[in-house]
Amino acid sequence: MTRDLTVTEVRLTPILVADPPLLNTQGVHQPYTPRLIVEVVTADGVTGLGETYGDTKYLELARPLADRLTGRQITDVNALFGLDIAVNASRVDGAVDVGGLRGVQTADKLRLSVLSAFEVACLDALGRALGLPVHALLGGKVRDSVEYSAYLFHKWAAHPEGVPGEKDDWGAALDPAGVVEQARRFKERHGFTSFKLKGGVFPPEQEIAAVRALAEAFPGHPLRLDPNGAWSVETSLRVARELGDLLEYLEDPALGTPAMAEVAARTDVPLATNMCVTTFAEIAEAFTKGAVQVVLCDHHYWGGLRNTRQLAAICSAFGVGVSMHSNTHLGVSLAAMTQVAATVPDLHHACDSHYPWQSEDVLTERLAFDGGRIAVSDAPGLGVELDRDELARLNRRWTEDDGALRDRDDAAAMRVAEPDWVTPTMPRW
Ligand SMILES: [Mg+2]
Repeated sequence: MTRDLTVTEVRLTPILVADPPLLNTQGVHQPYTPRLIVEVVTADGVTGLGETYGDTKYLELARPLADRLTGRQITDVNALFGLDIAVNASRVDGAVDVGGLRGVQTADKLRLSVLSAFEVACLDALGRALGLPVHALLGGKVRDSVEYSAYLFHKWAAHPEGVPGEKDDWGAALDPAGVVEQARRFKERHGFTSFKLKGGVFPPEQEIAAVRALAEAFPGHPLRLDPNGAWSVETSLRVARELGDLLEYLEDPALGTPAMAEVAARTDVPLATNMCVTTFAEIAEAFTKGAVQVVLCDHHYWGGLRNTRQLAAICSAFGVGVSMHSNTHLGVSLAAMTQVAATVPDLHHACDSHYPWQSEDVLTERLAFDGGRIAVSDAPGLGVELDRDELARLNRRWTEDDGALRDRDDAAAMRVAEPDWVTPTMPRW
């Protein structure tokens, strides 16, 4: 049977998704966060799905890329990555990305973050056209399920008074006891046995106490702490000394490769990152200096599922571990993460996922964690279906927004509760 794999239409749907008041060193999550859903339609009527960040700067780039993809083959992804698309320079200032805590911003990283959604959508469409799962297009799965860790956050019980937003039933977690209670719920609801605490919110002593409380409540469970570069080298070393025996790894204790290398040189606690190694260009310095022992890949900003496999191969060659970073995301991205994670042989740490925090999704059926794991789908493509009514509802929320929430800004969200809040200067402690 001859198939026509020509792209006849690319649909871009920006949406706003409910997000709980999760705290990080920059501020707090806004009540709604922007995401972009990409649909690639072929001449045969097959539709592939992709998902990425939905802030204005990503949308601005997605529109010309969508135009350039139309008329090409869904198998033509390498050429798509070779297209020279101008990136608005004002969107990329080389500064650390405040909202996403995802390291340095470059034009190329922004471009890759958008292209990744197109790549995933093309692979989903190709898989559907051929009747093969995406993992088969990547060489096949080496495991039947992928382990994820419970992503614990210090959080408020609710968004500030007067702020529109959805309610959640997780309650507040503002001290060690609250963190342990949250971890219990994660375990009860989803079966997670590995825990990561987002740190950099309270002084290190309190976060050390929270990790100790977790270790006591869940003996033998792997634990991680991620302050997003909020600590000095000396503070990082102090925390490493205090928690060394309890941690699977310490994630981005200090900001940037030189500081991470200094910490790594003086502790045996493995260091992980999704902030100082976020592009292929950053690998050489970090690996040569021994700054990181685990790279947390994010297929969005690394440029898709094939680049994720390339990163994993490089890490393997250098004896560096690989796992996955997560930002607020929906089921399309979780399905993509699971498909590629299933193909990476040297995946020795549970991946991160925000998904349990997201009460809304654009899928007809939510993905479910069983024992903290997601089963690897063998259905064609990503194995998920779009709920068009829900997509339309979340898009209406985006359309009706006056622009205040279309760009994620955790510091702005914090100023609603604390008007004097300024984005902290790093290192904060
Ligand atoms: Mg991190």
